[in-house]
Amino acid sequence: MSSHAPVGTPLRPLDLFNLDDDLAPEELEVRERVAAWAGERVAPRIAGLFERGEWDSSLAREMGELGILGMHLEGHGCPGGSAVQYGIACTELEAVDSGLRTFVSVQGSLAMSAIHRWGSDEQRDRWLPEMAAGEAIGCFGLTEPSAGSDPSRMLTTARREGGAWVLDGAKRWIGMGSIADVAVVWARAEDGVRGFLVERGTPGFTAQDIVDKLSLRASLQSELRFDGVRLPDDAMLPGARGLRGPFSCLDEARFGIVWGVTGAARDCLERALRYAGEREQFGRAIAGFQLTQSKLAEMAVALSRAQLLALRLGRLKDAGRLRPEQISVGKLDNVRTAQEIARTARSVLGGEGVRAEHAIMRHMANLEAVATYEGTAEVHTLILGAALTGHRAFA
Ligand SMILES: Cc1cc2nc3c(=O)[nH]c(=O)nc-3n(C[C@H](O)[C@H](O)[C@H](O)COP(=O)(O)OP(=O)(O)OC[C@H]3O[C@@H](n4cnc5c(N)ncnc54)[C@H](O)[C@@H]3O)c2cc1C
Repeated sequence: MSSHAPVGTPLRPLDLFNLDDDLAPEELEVRERVAAWAGERVAPRIAGLFERGEWDSSLAREMGELGILGMHLEGHGCPGGSAVQYGIACTELEAVDSGLRTFVSVQGSLAMSAIHRWGSDEQRDRWLPEMAAGEAIGCFGLTEPSAGSDPSRMLTTARREGGAWVLDGAKRWIGMGSIADVAVVWARAEDGVRGFLVERGTPGFTAQDIVDKLSLRASLQSELRFDGVRLPDDAMLPGARGLRGPFSCLDEARFGIVWGVTGAARDCLERALRYAGEREQFGRAIAGFQLTQSKLAEMAVALSRAQLLALRLGRLKDAGRLRPEQISVGKLDNVRTAQEIARTARSVLGGEGVRAEHAIMRHMANLEAVATYEGTAEVHTLILGAALTGHRAFA
């Protein structure tokens, strides 16, 4: 019997290795559901939201109804899906805009997973059902003006005073910070880094959006300030001590990025293929030129590699065998692959490629931020370097 696919089986340009065939019906269902929602509700107006620098807050509840907030968390009103289902949702959101996937990452992978993993039962019951429904928004404050790649240098402090906690300091680049109902804030206490739940409106807590971004414009990032913010004893996440607390959440978010960026890359390739087939120069479609074909072929190869990597990491995660260093490989390679695909796709569209209408330049700009948050390429290279050699070369 021949081991080849039957002659005439069409090649899928956006899925060269037929990975779709390896997805279970419930995984395909997630893809259809999320792609349909994002395509109908957001895609037609995303260019305008990006140009105006707006996040549409009404999307949160819709995403809650879709079951994609805290998607792979169990209990307390969370959807309880698999890691692969979550990854597929991230892909379809980011195919429209990285800002959508960023919202889901901040809400589910960062804020909700911090409460889910390190919170008390009371904290879980208080926040997770509302957050899963998109009725309450969360943010995750780790980065500071002077502590980015190295959060161990954080300056925000938490001290005990008369049975309460008092927070002082600042956080920068905090996704959804200005609209969050609850901020998960990491601060240095006497016994190490601790996580705190700070509710919106707590005296001394302020948030201001960073508005001059040229990336992730259809998303919100804010500067948070804590000036003598008094919190009750039970505002602390009891389970987290040290940087292991926030780092476990970063791993969750990085996993979503590994998948998400394949969506942005796929959208770029799809657009480049379509444009190359329609655009004529020198009397023929530019798709007929060898140099254009070389670009399209390289993009398709790179996308397939990224998709394979994402699916492999997803299956490992669902089997409980995924290591943080493996997530670093995925974050490092898939983001830079998506960046290369976006850049190449942009060139296929010539001058049209810089217009908002064609989305590619928006993806390119977004991917710059995605390459930076949740660990830069340098940081993931150093994580892998340490795992390979046993020598930490961070400092
Ligand atoms: C759009 C956006 C959203 C974000 N959302 C959040 C959020 O929700 N919550 C949150 O807490 N943070 C968030 N961040 C912050 C993000 O995680 C940091 O920007 C990131 O960790 C890098 O820190 P930094 O910007 O301070 O850069 P720096 O750490 O100052 O790094 C600057 C450059 O130096 C390099 N570098 C640093 N150390 C080394 C080293 N040892 N060896 C070699 N090179 C090195 C870096 O790779 C980088 O190229 C967000 C950032 C952006 C841009």
